[in-house]
Amino acid sequence: MTGPGGSPYTWAVPDIDVAVIGAGVTGLAAAWSIAGTGRSVCLLERHRRAGLETSTHNSGVVHAGLYHAPASLKTRLCIAGRERLYAFCAEHGVPHAVCGKLVVAHDDSELPRLHALKAAGDAAGVAGLTIVDRDFIAEREPACPARVGLYSPVSGIVDADALVQTLLRLGQARGVVFLPGAALLAGHAEADGIRLTTEREELVAGQVVNAAGLYADDVSRMLGGERFTIHPCRGEYVALVSSVGTRVTGLIYPLPHRHGLGVHVVRTLHGAVWLGPTVTFIERKDDYEADRLPVEAFVEPARRLLAGVTVDDLRLAGSGIRAKLHGPDVPFADFLIRRDAVNPRLVQAAGIESPGLTSCLAVGAMVCDILVR
Ligand SMILES: Cc1cc2nc3c(=O)[nH]c(=O)nc-3n(C[C@H](O)[C@H](O)[C@H](O)COP(=O)(O)OP(=O)(O)OC[C@H]3O[C@@H](n4cnc5c(N)ncnc54)[C@H](O)[C@@H]3O)c2cc1C
Repeated sequence: MTGPGGSPYTWAVPDIDVAVIGAGVTGLAAAWSIAGTGRSVCLLERHRRAGLETSTHNSGVVHAGLYHAPASLKTRLCIAGRERLYAFCAEHGVPHAVCGKLVVAHDDSELPRLHALKAAGDAAGVAGLTIVDRDFIAEREPACPARVGLYSPVSGIVDADALVQTLLRLGQARGVVFLPGAALLAGHAEADGIRLTTEREELVAGQVVNAAGLYADDVSRMLGGERFTIHPCRGEYVALVSSVGTRVTGLIYPLPHRHGLGVHVVRTLHGAVWLGPTVTFIERKDDYEADRLPVEAFVEPARRLLAGVTVDDLRLAGSGIRAKLHGPDVPFADFLIRRDAVNPRLVQAAGIESPGLTSCLAVGAMVCDILVR
């Protein structure tokens, strides 16, 4: 098959109802959900495999929904998404654990903020939040020196790689056409839809979902949609390689910081113990390594959560890049999920930073609702 220009390298994909740009958890969940309505769906991904960017460079934590205003999409979709995600994982065999999480106060000066976090979580409807004492903490996380904490029993962890692969498989089973190695290069309005061009394919889609993560601003511009800017913000991790790690049972967090949830401790489903992520706004969207913080920078935040950690206990580990809709001077922006105000054939699912992994099934369902309305 050749494309419209007669190029032997261009495939003419049959025209379809919906094209989803980006096969991270947002695009995968949206594609799966939309295909469930009987529409034809095509999923374009610039890499050769799904989920190679932020969706597999994160803490893998299933959040409770504590951190943002109850009315925000970040809170509402987190709470709805968590319930869906646990049920989905149980049904489809995605490894996960409802291991609970401790948020600990470093000293008495942090107690008002700890209580405020509980109040915000209660107001949002997060179940089971409890202020806990030293005995509870020592029993649950023997390496943690804190005296007071907030315990969230519904928090957990999920295997993000397995989630990506499962969403892809289920989407394909519903007929989603997955096009890996297909970076969107251009889009042009036509009478029946938007003509999308990649290096090899041309197709006309009646509607397009922008789930391009760090590149959602570029994709929106290409498709004649709203103008916004994604600010890449790197989070770096270290691994705990000594016996201190063997005493960690689950998730231990400090109080949240301005641009993130704070350097926390995660025992992964594979038994590794990670500390991170840090917060550094960066220039490039693909720079996971340059000018990384030294392991020494993690010792002090680690000691707040785990007694006796030294620099010898730590090794540099992975990093991820948050797709933020705001720069360092602004503390918050909500998920951008709506029909585009400029191009009505476009639905935005942008600025999906944490808790985007937790929320993905609720985000996918919301995108689908907007599309079929
Ligand atoms: C350090 C860190 C820790 C985090 N921890 C957690 C956590 O513990 N819990 C939680 O709930 N959330 C967490 N998150 C957030 C979560 O990882 C993200 O919200 C989620 O992965 C976003 O998924 P996405 O599909 O929107 O983006 P991505 O996974 O980035 O997917 C976007 C896809 O679009 C593709 N793409 C881009 N441009 C194009 C183009 N032109 N053509 C075709 N394809 C394109 C990309 O290649 C990519 O595969 C964390 C994030 C970071 C960075």
